[in-house]
Amino acid sequence: MGRVLIVGAGAAGMAAAIAAARQGQSITVLERNEKSLKKLGVTGNGRGNLLNSGDPLYYGDAGFAAQVLARIPYGKLVQFFEELGVPLREEAEGRIYPAALQGAVAVDALRLKARQLGVQICTRTQVIRLTAQGGGFVLEAEESVPRGEQAKGKKALPPEKIPRMYKADQVVVAAGGAAAPAHGTDGSAYELLTAFGHSLTPIRPALCALLTDRKPIQGLAGQRVRARLTLRDRLGHLLHETQGEALFAQDGVSGIAAMQLARWVHDGCVLHMDLRDELNREATEAGELRDYLQTIADSRQELPLSELFTGMLMPQVGRAVLAAAGYPEQSRRIGSLPPKALETIAATLTDFPLAVEGLRGFDSAQVTAGGIATADFNPATLESRLQKGLYAAGEILDVDGDCGGFNLMFAFASGLLAGGGF
Ligand SMILES: Cc1cc2nc3c(=O)[nH]c(=O)nc-3n(C[C@H](O)[C@H](O)[C@H](O)COP(=O)(O)OP(=O)(O)OC[C@H]3O[C@@H](n4cnc5c(N)ncnc54)[C@H](O)[C@@H]3O)c2cc1C
Repeated sequence: MGRVLIVGAGAAGMAAAIAAARQGQSITVLERNEKSLKKLGVTGNGRGNLLNSGDPLYYGDAGFAAQVLARIPYGKLVQFFEELGVPLREEAEGRIYPAALQGAVAVDALRLKARQLGVQICTRTQVIRLTAQGGGFVLEAEESVPRGEQAKGKKALPPEKIPRMYKADQVVVAAGGAAAPAHGTDGSAYELLTAFGHSLTPIRPALCALLTDRKPIQGLAGQRVRARLTLRDRLGHLLHETQGEALFAQDGVSGIAAMQLARWVHDGCVLHMDLRDELNREATEAGELRDYLQTIADSRQELPLSELFTGMLMPQVGRAVLAAAGYPEQSRRIGSLPPKALETIAATLTDFPLAVEGLRGFDSAQVTAGGIATADFNPATLESRLQKGLYAAGEILDVDGDCGGFNLMFAFASGLLAGGGF
């Protein structure tokens, strides 16, 4: 029976630790953060969106994700959580949460199970080098040790870095991707695998806010809309589309529907926002929408244009639509609009375009698109095809999923498989 070392105490690493420890192996997890599972606690806005019961929605190597999830499918993952003592609750769109709707309870249950199984978790310990030696592995790490109490009014000294060395027969690298560095994942761990000849596909932020032309969204920061969002390249070709909530910021658009478009953003692409859903008229043709606006306009002829959308849209959103349609003067009488105006305004409601200027970046992304190429891993075991005894699981691999529990689901499933199955 060998000694297994796991790099990263995130979702995948803890699942791997539990699976391997259940088979009687001696498990140590090395984690650079102060605590295990720091990120899991903040997922799903703190509610812990663990899984999704719907059809898998994966990108990168989606086929690899499908093969992993064929071995540890949704039902098995539900069983895994039930056995941990975490009852689950399903919400809209197949999103699965702990029944308590708190990610923290899943964090506690995973930590408890690992403790019961004798898993040793070394926190504040960052693995900086992994090498193969004598049929096993050597892991060089740095332990960050705080330098005592901070004296009042004095600046805290940086923690002392103490070199540590670990030996293992098998290693699971479950160190996450490059998104959300505040949670311990800054992309530096890819090197642990590329050192063995594994290749890294280009990485980019996914599930991340889009930066857009600021002018059309001036004054909209903090406004939420329900919309159908379409991303098109500079030639107008469809890149991807989503539907749901979008949240305006000063510099762009976030919210789930917008963030799901991040992985498709290219230079010169345009975000088209169809706001008809705000009026519960998402299927209404532009002509019919024009007629609807006409009936409203007829009853408000003497009122200023700022009242055209009263009752339909938040005033800030209404103002932005009117400005984009070419009618920025809010004080003009609705009755003074030229005959074609309502047609243009209805068309703008259907297509409010925003030039995309980039992405807010890894700091605010939830997930990494791209990662360690999966072709060199066996999807049945997550073992490297290039180095016996080396495994990888979770977001470090070139798999990313839609918002809604898919990323954690792949992390848990691949972690369990890497740990020997469930
Ligand atoms: C704000 C936010 C909300 C999210 N919401 C959801 C959601 O609702 N549903 C969903 O499915 N997904 C969500 N995600 C994505 C999801 O959390 C990740 O895809 C998932 O946690 C990946 O699991 P992992 O175990 O592969 O990596 P991680 O959970 O990132 O864990 C990797 C661990 O490895 C540690 N580590 C890194 N390098 C080293 C090293 N060299 N040595 C030692 N330790 C190291 C890190 O500190 C980290 O603890 C969210 C992400 C964020 C940031």
